[in-house]
Amino acid sequence: MELSEVDGVPEWLPDHLAGEGIESLYPPQAEAVEKGVTRGESLVASVPTASGKTLVAELAMLASVAAGGKALYIVPLRALASEKRAEFEAFEEYGVEVGVSTGNYESNERWLGEKDIIVATSEKVDSLVRNGASWIDRLDCVVADEVHLVDDRNRGPTLEVTLAKLRRINPDLQVVALSATIGNADELADWLDAGLVDSDWRPIELRKGVHYGQALHFDDGTQRELRVKSGEKPTAAIVRDTLQDEYDEEGNVAEEGGSTLVFVNSRRNAEAAARRLASTTAEHLDAEEITQLREVAEEIRSVSDTETSEDLADAVEQGAAFHHAGCAPGHRSAVEEAFRDRLVKCVCATPTLAAGVNTPSRRVIVRDWRRYDGSAGGMAPLSVLEVHQMMGRAGRPGMDPYGEAVLLANAHDELDELFDRYVWAQPEPVRSKLAAEPAMRTHVLATVASGFAASRGALLEFLEQTLYASQTDESGRLERVADDVLGYLEANGFVERDGDGLQATGLGHTVSRLYLDPMSAAEIIDGLRDADPTDVSALGLYHLVSRTPDMYQLYLRSGEREDLAMMAYERESEFLGAMPSEFEDERFEDWLSALKTAKLLEDWADEVDEDRITERYGVGPGDIRGKVDTAEWLLGAAESLAAELDLGSVTAVREAKKRVQYGVREELLDLAGVRGVGRKRARRLYAADIETRADLREADKSVVLGALRGRRKTAESVLENAGHQHPSMEGVDADESARPAEAPAVEDGEGDGERAIDEEDQATFGDF
Ligand code: ADP
Repeated sequence: MELSEVDGVPEWLPDHLAGEGIESLYPPQAEAVEKGVTRGESLVASVPTASGKTLVAELAMLASVAAGGKALYIVPLRALASEKRAEFEAFEEYGVEVGVSTGNYESNERWLGEKDIIVATSEKVDSLVRNGASWIDRLDCVVADEVHLVDDRNRGPTLEVTLAKLRRINPDLQVVALSATIGNADELADWLDAGLVDSDWRPIELRKGVHYGQALHFDDGTQRELRVKSGEKPTAAIVRDTLQDEYDEEGNVAEEGGSTLVFVNSRRNAEAAARRLASTTAEHLDAEEITQLREVAEEIRSVSDTETSEDLADAVEQGAAFHHAGCAPGHRSAVEEAFRDRLVKCVCATPTLAAGVNTPSRRVIVRDWRRYDGSAGGMAPLSVLEVHQMMGRAGRPGMDPYGEAVLLANAHDELDELFDRYVWAQPEPVRSKLAAEPAMRTHVLATVASGFAASRGALLEFLEQTLYASQTDESGRLERVADDVLGYLEANGFVERDGDGLQATGLGHTVSRLYLDPMSAAEIIDGLRDADPTDVSALGLYHLVSRTPDMYQLYLRSGEREDLAMMAYERESEFLGAMPSEFEDERFEDWLSALKTAKLLEDWADEVDEDRITERYGVGPGDIRGKVDTAEWLLGAAESLAAELDLGSVTAVREAKKRVQYGVREELLDLAGVRGVGRKRARRLYAADIETRADLREADKSVVLGALRGRRKTAESVLENAGHQHPSMEGVDADESARPAEAPAVEDGEGDGERAIDEEDQATFGDF
């Protein structure tokens, strides 16, 4: 189908897309148009990875905007929000305004009301509904990206309930749900009263198969020799083979070497595999690539001062990389970009990469098809859907003639098993996880508090509109869980019941708006009630928020239990609430895991270096940031609860929050609050007797320059942010006596890449 034949979309669109190399629609896109996606019809598009789902969404949203409407694009991960925004910003030159909602959970971000297209995560949309954002009821078109994630135990229920609420608010809402190929897309379409495009079409051929012995075995029955040298691992042999150019009969390069994406089951394995494969990729780099990779490695080193950073940079210099949730966002984006630019030849990733960012490659190796699963108590096989999603990353349209995705077998039996289990298999059906109690706790309270249900009957009626209700054959389960949850919410003073009538209490409204799991709120309230407001320690507060279900806890490593138990007894008086007995095995263990998390936060707020923390707790820099970010949010919520209940500990909570936010001790709070002054710079300035924001404003510029290790641009921007009258550093000489002793002198940056605010020293993680 030609783009000019598509009705409803803005006139400028065909030319714009032609400029992007899109001349006509892919078959599934054409089918979506035929089913009315540009005429306001709801649609579920279940299409393989990289087959152009985004354009289907864009057609729907732009048609809606062209008709004077407003569209919302729901992404599953925050990292994807910025990626999508960047894509949609191309429409701004035609007057389409794009906004991304990244603010705190409690805000309602009124300014988004001005935008035509809004990008947000499902959690954010849920919280906007709870906070009564006025523009929500003006939405005409909602896109749900990766809608198969309704199956996800943790995040699925939020997406499901959010879609149900948006449809309830506006019954005429157009819902465009984008899904990977799944077994039961028709059920999703039924649930959403939507048309269905269910297609296996791909823009580039994908061969799936298994490597066994000395050959790749493919699903079309063909084999291709792929020799593994003695002592070589099959993964290395495949990466090496992929890198080699292929020649035609006349000796010309018929096909240039390509890149490989390797999926493994743990962070440690990703790092180890990248380290090993680096020796394979290193042999295939030319001089130009080596120079460019060095630059990428430098960029990675500047992201954070940790072993992870160092290891990643070392691998990248040799053309390989790892990618997992323990990496900082700056690490991940640098790796993705270098992989897309074909500089990095091989990325070893955990499955987190499979869902999300656009990183196609010639070959994909699913090296580990089992992974540790706590709920299964051991190793469990990956789902077919997950493996197919990983495999779908193979083949770059326009660049590769085809993509190949393989699993690895060690024995003939395993070859057959892997073909049956994954290559031939259909993805499993997607099932709602809403009836799980933690999800229901949160969503029942929110549903009552934001006015969707004023009685038990109305609540059940609302729940009837969820995917869960449409899928369950166990009658009465939803009702039973809802009643249990209502009992819990009532007992904790979050809702009041009067016969069939239901209403949220003031506290219940606050908890819902704060986006807390009601169980977290109850734990925090109990802890704060128990506290002596004049004597609350930061550790006590960090422990309190770390033991709520909203904080993902750190696992205890072997041998840690004793040390932590010792610390627990030594600091017993600081904890809010009673410590469980050592004989209550599971509870005590949880309590200690929370203590480990709390201690990490305390170290961070005590200015312990990031690399010490990563070593001490066996985590990556991305984990520290994740914990800090969650703690900041939970402490902010605790502050609101303390204020609402008049508990007297408000100031202590606020201070503990600020310390964790900036990663500094108390005396640096004022300074660290100046934009561009992170924890390290604040300490350096303090050591030079610049102790407050006011001091900084009046400071002798040569002292500031000395304390900031001669970095002129940094010094200027910091002074400007502090409100200094004349921030210019022109002609200023650094006061050498103010230069921190521990750090090497830095050459003055004359446009040599020194950034005005370099992330190295930043302790605020606004982009999470
Ligand atoms: P998905 O979201 O399905 O994984 P994307 O929407 O990211 O896939 O599309 C993959 C790539 O295909 C993008 O680079 C996109 O620009 C390109 N593409 C999409 N539709 C077309 C088309 N009709 N013609 C040519 N290229 C297209």
